[in-house]
Amino acid sequence: MELTCIVCPRGCTINYDVVNGEAVNITGNACPRGQTYTETEIKAPTRMVTSTVPIHGSHYHQLPIITASPIPKQAIFDVMEVIHNTEVNAPIEMGQVIIKDVAGTGVDILAARSMEKL
Ligand code: SF4
Repeated sequence: MELTCIVCPRGCTINYDVVNGEAVNITGNACPRGQTYTETEIKAPTRMVTSTVPIHGSHYHQLPIITASPIPKQAIFDVMEVIHNTEVNAPIEMGQVIIKDVAGTGVDILAARSMEKL
């Protein structure tokens, strides 16, 4: 089987076999991160999620947000639904928790930048 590593812009094409639900015979990765990525992608794929939420009382209309750590890929739809129903008020500090334990993933959504009040 084959996948493209998305850990860095080089985008190595990685070949692997799956035995008992685990990636084995991994080749094509130019660095160890590709092996870890492939193993995780086969066993329990995760993704960082970035998006924006409306902000009130700021010079800007949208606050960029990011997950504090990768979330299970299958939870992305539920996470995006929570994000789409979230609005915030200025001021906001970068790193501030915007949504705690988003969609029960155990991962918080954080502000990706500060935004002052008008
Ligand atoms: S295997 Fe390493 S060098 Fe290749 S894309 Fe992944 S992180 Fe980048």
